Amino acid sequence: MTSEQYLLLREKFPHLLNHQSVEENGSLVEIDNFSVAIKQLIILCGDDPKRDGLQETPFRVLKAFLESTEGYREDPKLHLEKTFDIQHKGLILIKDIDFYSLCEHHFSPFFGVAHVGYIPKEKITGLSKVGRLVEGYAKRFQVQERLTTQIAQAIEEVLDPEGTIVLVEAKHMCMCSRGIKKANTVTTTSSIRGIYENRPDLRAEFYSLIKN
Ligand SMILES: [Zn+2]
Repeated sequence: MTSEQYLLLREKFPHLLNHQSVEENGSLVEIDNFSVAIKQLIILCGDDPKRDGLQETPFRVLKAFLESTEGYREDPKLHLEKTFDIQHKGLILIKDIDFYSLCEHHFSPFFGVAHVGYIPKEKITGLSKVGRLVEGYAKRFQVQERLTTQIAQAIEEVLDPEGTIVLVEAKHMCMCSRGIKKANTVTTTSSIRGIYENRPDLRAEFYSLIKN
């Protein structure tokens, strides 16, 4: 990695210097080790890391990973903390929240939409904040099941609503492009809390609004 590339990473991702990282010869030992590993990977796959198009690949790969995992540098729950006292007793639904995440088993992308519904007791959060919440948990090494649970749990903990319902629909590249190669498979996961657990009528309302 060139020193310009290293400085760019350091500036964009200051946390790189926060842990017990060792800076040596104008680079971090961890970053140098990573570059070596990516070059080895290229060799193992049967190509030449010195080839023109692959020379900067270790840098690009590291930068892409750091961007895709920015959620580790925040507590997504904090986005919900600015709340409003509004007397609204019905469903609040934020649907089709796009997200892009990385499967922790293969480091391959999975992406889709999250639909988040809750029935407030006293506290309501800003609509855009729910999008930021989803983003904060998606930008990590994830599995869809955990992502779904974390979103519901955060709403429960911070807003303490009557009930929360979260549905996530995603396509997993590890399933589409390799392995069993099912290109159009969509995985759906849900997490249901509070009043939604024993009110099928409220769940039906949520599902019908999502379909429309
Ligand atoms: Zn996977």
